[in-house]
Amino acid sequence: MKPLQLLTIISSFLILTFYTAGVSAQAGIYKGWKAGVARVVITPNQPLWMAGYGNRDHPSEGKIVDLWAKALALQDSGGKQVVLVTADLVGIPKKLSDHIRDQLKRRFNLSRSQIAINTSHTHTGPVLTNALVDIYPVDAIQQQEIDEYTDKLGEKIVALVDKALHTMEPVQLYAGNGVTRFQVNRRNNVEATLSSQSDLNGPNDYAVPVIKVENKKGELIAVAFGYACHNTVLAGYKWSGDYAGFAQMELEKTHPGVTALFLQGCGADQNPLPRRTVQLAQQYGKDLAAAVDRVLYEDMQLLSPHLTTAYSEVELSLNTPPSKEELLKKAAESSDYQKRWANHLLRNIDRGEALRTSYPYPVEVWSLGGQPIIILGGEVVVEYAIELKRIFGQNVFVLGYSNDVMSYIPTAKILQEGGYEGAGSQMVYGLPNTWKSNIEAVILQQVLQVAREAGIPILSSKIN
Ligand SMILES: [Zn+2]
Repeated sequence: MKPLQLLTIISSFLILTFYTAGVSAQAGIYKGWKAGVARVVITPNQPLWMAGYGNRDHPSEGKIVDLWAKALALQDSGGKQVVLVTADLVGIPKKLSDHIRDQLKRRFNLSRSQIAINTSHTHTGPVLTNALVDIYPVDAIQQQEIDEYTDKLGEKIVALVDKALHTMEPVQLYAGNGVTRFQVNRRNNVEATLSSQSDLNGPNDYAVPVIKVENKKGELIAVAFGYACHNTVLAGYKWSGDYAGFAQMELEKTHPGVTALFLQGCGADQNPLPRRTVQLAQQYGKDLAAAVDRVLYEDMQLLSPHLTTAYSEVELSLNTPPSKEELLKKAAESSDYQKRWANHLLRNIDRGEALRTSYPYPVEVWSLGGQPIIILGGEVVVEYAIELKRIFGQNVFVLGYSNDVMSYIPTAKILQEGGYEGAGSQMVYGLPNTWKSNIEAVILQQVLQVAREAGIPILSSKIN
């Protein structure tokens, strides 16, 4: 046999071996992970009202950096898919989220349990329709611009997922947790006196969850990473993704060609402190990117190509809504958002609508080849992440601000203490009253139930 013939036979054998190892004959399914990534700029083209603060008195004036929506589509060895969407937005209202998820079901047959839409909670992003409606003093034209932007955003996110699903390639997935400590518990420390404080009060969750996506050449193509902290370094009138935007930019600069996706955790009572300058937002962005990089370069857990998912909505009870008389009094006596809130609820009553006494709260769980990810709606306070890590283990990833951001989600203790996260913010979100005191137990029980459905190991099912 001539050397050339031998080489041809060997290479044919290698190609065949590679093919049969990688592709299932009947379905054309690759016997490993596949991933696709996509990204789209979502910075409004025109001045638009900005989200997160009620004290702004005019629309945006340009940008510091662009706002992005990004998608990471994953497929396991059985062909099961999930899609993770992240966006530089203050939150996602139920109506928009339902619309997007209905479209993804219709077009790609993805169920609710296969979709996670996480928002960074940047306070220098746009206002969306049906989100925090009463706090912004917008007029009819500005509202129309908000509605148009929201409609287009929905279309953009569906197209983004389409692109991610159709650019999938074989990959290896890894998971690990890093750490960084610029978050400060804002309920238990005083921002104004922070510089003279030598000891900070908790609780906190300093974890930096990281998912690494590498192609078959060993090249990093995507990194999804999280932190539990408000994106509130910046206020003002210029668009930006805040510290999370700078962290994504930093990682994409250090790893050319990579798409970096930020996941907001249970950071409802955590602020990046001190704050308010672009330089501080950049500093925290670099801190977070450095924490991610450390994890990327150390040994990470290789994830087996097996996905399980579960999703459900549990009704969370609200306290009895105010009466029409109480609302009329509030509308007459208060100003600004409280007046708008009372008038908004009065219009509902006049239309014959009953005021809400409960809310369908989304709880989702994924196991990404043994890496548990708990995905919660609303602005979840950090104590939930701490308790869920006690229940499921310290390696679990806990996301808040996902699929529907309807309100703050306080613990029973914070609810009792009151303050913004426990009481005031429910009105800001347009809910008729505060949550009932069983909120924490109901959510944790629901997570346990959904986790069992997804086959996630539970270390301790006793809830503290
Ligand atoms: Zn918030």
